[in-house]
Amino acid sequence: MRVPRSRVTIPSDLRVVGVAIPAAGSGVRMGGRRKPFLTLGGRPLLAHTLRPFLDHPQVTCLVVALSPADMADAPAWLRALDARIRLVVGGETRRDSVHAAVEALDPSVNWVLVHDAARPLVTRSIIDRCIDVPGGEEGVVAAWPIGDTLKEVSSDRTVLGTPDRSRLWGAQTPQAFPRDRLVAAYRKAIDEDFRATDDAEVYGRFGGATRVVEGSPWNLKVTHPEDLVVAEHLCAHPGVLEGRG
Ligand code: C5P
Repeated sequence: MRVPRSRVTIPSDLRVVGVAIPAAGSGVRMGGRRKPFLTLGGRPLLAHTLRPFLDHPQVTCLVVALSPADMADAPAWLRALDARIRLVVGGETRRDSVHAAVEALDPSVNWVLVHDAARPLVTRSIIDRCIDVPGGEEGVVAAWPIGDTLKEVSSDRTVLGTPDRSRLWGAQTPQAFPRDRLVAAYRKAIDEDFRATDDAEVYGRFGGATRVVEGSPWNLKVTHPEDLVVAEHLCAHPGVLEGRG
């Protein structure tokens, strides 16, 4: 017998929230520097990323996936920061690192936020929008509408087409999902070696529907050295972040 939808839906204020943080990238586009431990506003980048999640009353567990080298040499501040934080070794790809982190969440967690370590400017309001959503089976993606006109381009740089911009949003993180379905989706993705660059793609293939909520234009991913310059500036103006966040 099918269980009525209303009986499996967890009201958003009763969600027990876990956070999976992939931080095991090699930082090639950052010149091979250990990105989670770069200094931003006088503190490690990863400390910025973790703070708004640690301050959220519904977050009970955070798992950070580190590279093997960073795991072997994890700084004391990170080990001592908060008892809710667990460290695991990530994998070759972001997908593998997220999988490792999600599997290590406390069993009591029923709602999972996946958030890139490299997005240190995430705000409380974005996190709230990823938790305070009705429904039980749909995933949620923080995203922002695309401002530029986009071109699809061939390998020799010939413009092939112009997708309808009004329907395009840039996917950010956090991306949030019911725990059981996310775990099952990631296990299938690993089994079938399904390649994806974000969690909504994995969830869309094996878990269910996702919808977007507003992220922020300032919720940038620190990828190239120049991103750090912008992040440094934004960090010095927290009012700007919350104003649009
Ligand atoms: O490579 P990309 O910019 O998509 O990375 C997004 C996030 O995924 C970063 O925080 C990075 O550290 C993490 N990542 C990971 N394991 C990998 C590759 C990326 O945890 N193997």
